[in-house]
Amino acid sequence: GTVDIECDMMVLGAGPGGYSAAFRSADLGMNTVLVERYSTLGGVCLNVGCIPSKALLHIAAVIDEIAAISKHGITFGKPEIDVDQLRDYKEKVINKMTGGLAGMAKMRKVNVVQGVGQFVSPYHIQITAADGTQKTIQFKQAIIAAGSSVVNLPFVKPDPRIVDSTGALELRSVPKRMLVIGGGIIGLEMATVYSTLGARIDVVEMMDGLMQGADRDMVKVWQKFNEKRFDKVMLKTKTVAVEALPEGIKVSFEAAEAGVTAPEPQLYDMVLVAVGRSPNGKKIAADKAGVTVTERGFINVDGQMRTNVPHIFAIGDLVGQPMLAHKAVHEAHVAAEAAAGHKAYFDAKVIPSVAYTDPEVAWVGITEDEAKAKGIKLEKGLFPWAASGRAVANGRDEGFTKLLFDAETHRIVGGGIVGTHAGDMIGEIALAIEMGADAVDIGKTIHPHPTLGESIGMAAEVFEGVCTDLP
Ligand code: FAD
Repeated sequence: GTVDIECDMMVLGAGPGGYSAAFRSADLGMNTVLVERYSTLGGVCLNVGCIPSKALLHIAAVIDEIAAISKHGITFGKPEIDVDQLRDYKEKVINKMTGGLAGMAKMRKVNVVQGVGQFVSPYHIQITAADGTQKTIQFKQAIIAAGSSVVNLPFVKPDPRIVDSTGALELRSVPKRMLVIGGGIIGLEMATVYSTLGARIDVVEMMDGLMQGADRDMVKVWQKFNEKRFDKVMLKTKTVAVEALPEGIKVSFEAAEAGVTAPEPQLYDMVLVAVGRSPNGKKIAADKAGVTVTERGFINVDGQMRTNVPHIFAIGDLVGQPMLAHKAVHEAHVAAEAAAGHKAYFDAKVIPSVAYTDPEVAWVGITEDEAKAKGIKLEKGLFPWAASGRAVANGRDEGFTKLLFDAETHRIVGGGIVGTHAGDMIGEIALAIEMGADAVDIGKTIHPHPTLGESIGMAAEVFEGVCTDLP
């Protein structure tokens, strides 16, 4: 067939992975085309993920903080919430970011082509625009960054009162009674927003705890602080039926294991399904390019992010867990640099995770629970925020900072922070792990006082007086 566009590099999908890959490819001198089905760049993260959720979480945190300081002699009125204006604010945040990306693409002369891409050969992809017109792009190399989509429960029929994370972020209204199905980070962040805006929330989770992956001692702190947010937290409980009735959404539950009593069916004004995301690998005709896609829709890659087809790379949510924007960005840079012939490899030791709830829960490297389960002996340094002047001054001393060290070398191997701004601080622990720092390196680094970040230095002083650098 005819070829409409020829390029050195074709990037499929313009999420954090795709736009980072396209920008780095262009910076390295490749003539780059970026294909995206939507009219804006930024993918899930900017349009319906990380950024809109944080815009709403910021507002929620301010509302909660104002309520908290009212106990100290400053009284504000009851918040009056104009949902339309709040939605506008969130939209403005998104537009500012996606507009910025469009500008950066232009500046780099990245050719953005709008439409759905389907491979037709190892060197060609066909793009179908919304109006049905088609274009064929011929590329020398490609980076697949098609991301992931929400997982739906098979027994749930569409109804405007039943939403996924995208629907919840639309913020059409604030329900009186809301059920969050799935106690992971995304569900709990949205629960935080909606409960602060006035909804009563129930959470149902199949596993034995919320926020899987985080150490239980941190989750406990978060849960205790949030007791008032939730009417019911149903653990080890399965959602088995969701029925849209005129008077509400009727949800039925079943025990996920023996010994658990599931509650009676409940009526809700809104139900958020947040049960995970699945990769888009099966939706791009990868087989036409010879790229192997796993049963679940993932694409396997090597240390340079190369697929089984050497001139085609894959990055981001599409190549596996954790499905996080910062992982996608780093993989993107590796893929683009490898494509340009550099000796780039993805060799990050650790990837931090953050729940931007209130308080925030952040962790990186090996967790204490994981070490215990695997029988790995570690040393722990824990600094309770009740001893942090700044946390106490902020009226938020419920949290703690903990560091995990190799028992012999005292090198740091993991860490966790629960408390306000935990996500902003976890990067220091990630850096320490990447640099191979030991307890003394961290403990002897002078952190400014009084800051929350100082708690990291304090936690490292568990070995104070023990110098691991000298015999
Ligand atoms: P995506 O962002 O999914 O982008 C893929 C792009 O490819 C999309 O724009 C899609 O339209 C396009 N595309 C797919 N197929 C085609 C095709 N055939 N043709 C053309 N275009 C195509 N991560 C964090 O790190 N921090 C957070 O705080 C955070 N919060 C989140 C909150 C929510 C509610 C959600 C849903 C996710 C959140 N995530 C967060 C996860 C984060 O959004 C993803 O990890 C990230 O977006 C993955 O980037 P990606 O480039 O792999 O893919």
